[in-house]
Amino acid sequence: MPRSNRPRRSTSKREETPEVSRSVLYGARRTEVKRGIEYTVQSHSGAAAEDDKTWTCPHCFLLIKRGTPHMVAWDERGSGVRRHFHTNCWSKFQGRLE
Ligand SMILES: [Zn+2]
Repeated sequence: MPRSNRPRRSTSKREETPEVSRSVLYGARRTEVKRGIEYTVQSHSGAAAEDDKTWTCPHCFLLIKRGTPHMVAWDERGSGVRRHFHTNCWSKFQGRLE
């Protein structure tokens, strides 16, 4: 079942101008340091290409339902280890990503 390609999902857009490159899914990117670990954090609209997409928050272990704005964060290992957090959970999160 073909789905239309979404050019906005490009991951190679310029990162130094987050305000300009807002997409449907992601908001501005910023950096936060928690316990000496630098995280890249980006807001996520909750919209997803997949119909039944959900995410599990690694702080409270509850599902983040599709359509719920939340945060995505990853550490210096790169976006391959990114996790989706409830916005409040990200504020409280002090551990490290597994
Ligand atoms: Zn949570």
